[in-house]
Amino acid sequence: MRVAVVGGGAVGVTAAHDLAAAGVDVRLYERDSELGDDRTSPREQVEGSSHRAAGLLAPRPTDAVGAEIATRSLDRFEWLADRDHRFSVEPTPQVTLVGADAEDKQAALREQVAEAREQGVDVGCHEPAEIADRFPEVDFSGVGLAAVTERAAYVTPGPGAYVAAMADQAREAGVDCWTGVEASLSHEGDGPRVDNERFDAVIVAAGGWSKRVLAPTGIQLPIKPYRVQALVSEADYAGPMVHDAEAGVYFRPHPSGLLAGDGTVPEEIDPDGWEPTGDDWFVEGALDAVRSRTGHDADADAAWAGIATATPDREPLLGAVESDLYVATGWQGHGFLRAPGTGEAIADLVLGERDPIERYDPGRFTGVPEFAVEEGMSI
Ligand SMILES: Cc1cc2nc3c(=O)[nH]c(=O)nc-3n(C[C@H](O)[C@H](O)[C@H](O)COP(=O)(O)OP(=O)(O)OC[C@H]3O[C@@H](n4cnc5c(N)ncnc54)[C@H](O)[C@@H]3O)c2cc1C
Repeated sequence: MRVAVVGGGAVGVTAAHDLAAAGVDVRLYERDSELGDDRTSPREQVEGSSHRAAGLLAPRPTDAVGAEIATRSLDRFEWLADRDHRFSVEPTPQVTLVGADAEDKQAALREQVAEAREQGVDVGCHEPAEIADRFPEVDFSGVGLAAVTERAAYVTPGPGAYVAAMADQAREAGVDCWTGVEASLSHEGDGPRVDNERFDAVIVAAGGWSKRVLAPTGIQLPIKPYRVQALVSEADYAGPMVHDAEAGVYFRPHPSGLLAGDGTVPEEIDPDGWEPTGDDWFVEGALDAVRSRTGHDADADAAWAGIATATPDREPLLGAVESDLYVATGWQGHGFLRAPGTGEAIADLVLGERDPIERYDPGRFTGVPEFAVEEGMSI
C-alpha cells in the first residue's frame, strides 16, 4: 500500500509515522523547508501552526472519542519525550478563572468540568479561597470560580520540537519526507493523485491550508482559517498554566520567562495572506492580564500570530472525504494537544483498523454551511 500525507505539521508527521510503522510505503509532503525545529519561539518564515502554537496540553473533552484522542495524545507526547531528549513535556496543572460577576460563565464552566469528569479527566471546580495557598504565584482577585485540570502540561523547548522529534521517528520507520514541496492534489476516477502520481490513499493534514489543498478536487471543506496569537516575555514565572477567561488570555511558564496567548481574531483569513506578527492590542491586553494576575511587569520579547481552524460545530474534520482521500484537521485552536491522537486515528482509519468516527465525519454537514468563527478558548 502506498500512501501520501500532505502537510508535515504535528498531525501529518504522526500519521506518516504510524502508517510506516504498520508497514505502509509512505511519502510525506511539506512545503516548508524543514520538519520542525528546536526553537522556543517560531522562525518568522515558518507558517505551519504546529511551530507557532503555545504548546499547552490541557484537555477538557466533552465526549468519549475526544477523551480517547486527548488521552492518547498525552500518552504519546510522554512516549516521545522518553525516546528523544531534545523534546520534553513539563507536567503543570492548568487553572481556569471565571469572574465573580460572570454567573453564566460560572454555570458553563461547571457544566464543562462535569462533562470532562464523566470522561475520566481529573479536573475539578473550586472557590478561589480553596486553591489560593496551592498557587501563591496567582492573584485570584475578582475570581468567582476556578477549575483545575490536574493532568496538564506544556512542551519544551517549543511545539516545533515535537514535529522535529516525531519526523525523526517517521524517517526511522521508513517515511520518505519530501520537504520544500507544495503538493497539488487531484482525484480522477481511478483515485487520489499528488502531483499527478497515483497513491492508494492520500491524507490531507494541511491544517489551515486543507480547504485550499482540497479545492482542485471539487471538495469544499467546511472550515475557516483564522488568526490567534502568542508572545513571550522575560517575566520570571513558575506557577501553573492559567486561562483567565475574563481577560481572554492564557499564560504559562516558558524557557525565557513566560508565554501568553489567545488574541483570537474571529474572521476567516486567506491562509496565503495573513499578518504573522502579533497585534499591538493583543500584546497590551495580554501583558496587562499577566501584570494583574502575577504582578510581573515585563515587555514582550517576541509576539506572533498563526492559524487556527474553525468548523461549524467546533468539532474536527477527521475521516474520508472521497474514496481513498482523507482529511484530518480543525480543532478550533486546540489541535496541537490533540495532534498525536488525531494522527493515530487517521492512520488507523486508512488502515481499516477503526470504524469511521461519525461525530467527526467531514461529510456530516449538508452542503457548505454558513457559520461564524468562534473563539476556541471561550467558556
Ligand atoms: C498562536 C497559536 C497558539 C496555539 N496554541 C495551542 C495550544 O496551546 N494548544 C493546542 O492544542 N493548540 C494550539 N494551537 C493550535 C495548533 O497549533 C494547531 O491546531 C495544530 O498545530 C495543527 O496541526 P496540524 O498538523 O493540523 O497543522 P499545521 O501544523 O499547520 O501543519 C500543516 C502543514 O501543511 C503544510 N502545507 C500546507 N499546504 C501544503 C501543500 N500544498 N503541500 C505541502 N505542505 C503543505 C504547511 O506548511 C504546514 O506545515 C495554537 C495555534 C496558534 C497559531
